[in-house]
Order: sequence, then structure tokens, then C-alpha cells
Amino acid sequence: MRIVVAGGAGFLGSHLCDALVERGDHVVCVDSFVTGSRANVAHLIRSEAFELLEADVCDGFSVDGEVDAVMNLASPASPTDYFRLPIETLDVGSVGTRNLLELARTADARFFMASTSEVYGDPTVHPQTEEYWGHVNPIGARSMYDEAKRFSEALTFAYHRTHGVPIRVVRIFNTYGPRMQADDGRVVSNFITQALRGEPLTIYGDGSQTRSFCYVDDEIAGFLALLDSDEIGPINIGNPGEFTMLELADIVNELTANTAGVVHRPLPSDDPRQRCPDITRAVEVLGWTPHVDLRAGLERTIAHFASVL
Ligand code: NAD
Ligand code: UDP
Repeated sequence: MRIVVAGGAGFLGSHLCDALVERGDHVVCVDSFVTGSRANVAHLIRSEAFELLEADVCDGFSVDGEVDAVMNLASPASPTDYFRLPIETLDVGSVGTRNLLELARTADARFFMASTSEVYGDPTVHPQTEEYWGHVNPIGARSMYDEAKRFSEALTFAYHRTHGVPIRVVRIFNTYGPRMQADDGRVVSNFITQALRGEPLTIYGDGSQTRSFCYVDDEIAGFLALLDSDEIGPINIGNPGEFTMLELADIVNELTANTAGVVHRPLPSDDPRQRCPDITRAVEVLGWTPHVDLRAGLERTIAHFASVL
């Protein structure tokens, strides 16, 4: 297939480009590099199966030739990034998603939307199933991201119902691994870089809030299973192993032999208390399950950061 990957130079996008090229697809990576980098795809540049187009998907851009699928991963994703880029985040979730849906419609291609567990907000249902409508503050600190993704999902379903565009909507839960930016502010990259520098790990709040962390290879395998299926979603792809931030800090300090401990910092407003995917649907309809547990994934991620820092 010839596949447009918007946001293909980001953390998840670059791993997705790797996996697509590896299995024999042709990739057109479209990225503005607002949070991604050329370095993430530098190893692919010489491949005949890979094209790189620098463009903001909110602006006019065109992809010539046949397109079989459009995969939309373009959006700031780290809270630090979307706090810094609130209007750009709303633009890419609305105008950018619309432009990519138009590309899929006119090319007769399927459309894959990278949505997020953030559509569930600060969830009152636990673990989160796809049926749960969420608990989002529409004007809160995270609203630019949560509402942009909720709008993207609504727009994607509107194109499906109105124009018959074949769609795939994935709700991604916290994913980590090599090529996360060291300074992107997410908890895994923060903890590992702090630990490798022998500094105390910064726990926001009391550290009792939970997240469920999926290793990037598992997440990308889930994307491909969904892309290749007839399932339109939305479908949760994440690892249901749930940890408090204190537990995560203990594991990172142990794996890095960091003796500096932890320090507490204020909890950002609207920080979700708990998050864990119910992946029953992914298991049943895609035959997908994650395989890499947190310790094994952290070891690989620590090795990556140790080599780049
Ligand atoms: P990332 O910031 O590393 O990658 C996003 C990419 O999109 C970057 O390369 C960036 O330059 C590009 N981009 C942003 N706005 C653009 C625009 N207007 N035009 C063209 N390119 C643009 O983030 P990531 O972690 O790789 O996330 C990828 C996608 O997955 C995002 O849509 C994110 O919302 C979603 N997601 C990620 C996670 C996670 O844990 N990593 C969780 C839930 C959802
Ligand atoms: N967090 C933390 N220390 C950090 C960075 C984040 O305790 O240095 C917390 C953050 O408050 C949140 C959790 O870790 O409760 C996950 O944060 P992240 O930004 O990785 O992802 P998200 O909040 O989007 O799930």
C-alpha cells in the first residue's frame, strides 16, 4: 500500500513509518517538525519506499499519485507541548484532520485517526471501555488537546457517515520507548533522564495517580492490526498494567541504580487521577495483546536514553 503518515517524524509516527516500510508498504511522511524531528526518520531517507514532505497539515498541501491509506498522527501529544501550543493543537485536531480526511475521501483511501485515552478525561469509569463517554472539562487546562481529539473523532465519523470514507479510530493510552524526546516533559522521559543524571525524580502531587504504560512496539503492532482489519473503532490500544507514579519512580530508580530518590512538585490542574484501558475489544476483534511488560520496556528505553544523553 502507499500510505500517508501525518506526524510521521514524531515519536510514534517514526516507529510506524519503520514498521510500514519494513513490511513492504510505501510511506509518504508529512510533518511540520513542530514537535518531531528529521533525526527520527533520518535512517529512512535513503529508502525508495519512503518520501518526506515538510508541511503543516493545517495549510494547503498535496500528495500526488495513488494513496491507499491516510494515517493521522499529527498533533502535539505531550502535555508540555500542548500547553505551549494550545491554538496549534486545536487547529491540527480540526482543520488539519479535515484536510487529511479530504485527502482520504478524494483518493478513495482509508483513514486512520490516532485518538487518545484523554477523550475519557478524568475518568469516573475504571478501567475505561470504548462505550464510556468520558469526563472532560471543556475549558480546563487540557481542553485544547482533549476537545481537539474529541472533535477529530466526531469529524472522522461524520466523514464515514456522510461520504462513506472507511475509517479506523484508535484510542492510544500512554506509550513510551526509544525516540521519546528527552525534554518533552512526559513522565517516562522525565524520570529516566533525571535518574541517568543522578537527580531525584519529580513526582507531581502525592504520586498516587495512575497510568498504564504501553511499550511502543506493542502499540505499533496494534495500529497495524487495526489498519488491516475491518473494524472502524474507536478501539483502545494500550497495556492494562496500571501503576502509580510512585511505583513507576521506584522501578526507574531501581533499574538505573539511582539513589537520589524523589521530590514532590505541584500537581498540574485537571491531571487525571487514574487511567487504565479495558482492551477486551482489541483482544477479541483484532487478536491483539501487548507483550512487553513495564520493566522490560523500561530497560530498553533506559538503554536508548543512556546512548543519546
Ligand atoms: P510527537 O509530538 O512525538 O509526534 C507528533 C508529530 O506530529 C510530530 O512529528 C509533529 O511535528 C507533528 N505535527 C504536529 N502538528 C503538525 C501539523 N500541524 N502538521 C504536520 N505535522 C504536525 O507525539 P507522539 O507521542 O508521537 O504522538 C503521535 C500521535 O499519537 C498524536 O496524535 C498523539 O495525540 C497520539 N497519542 C500519543 C500518545 C503517547 O503516549 N505517545 C498517547 C495518546 C495519543
Ligand atoms: N508526572 C510526574 N512527574 C513528571 C512528569 C509527569 O509525576 O516529571 C505525572 C503527571 O502529573 C501525570 C503522569 O505523571 O499524572 C503522566 O504524565 P504524562 O505527562 O507522561 O502523561 P499524561 O498526563 O498525558 O497521561
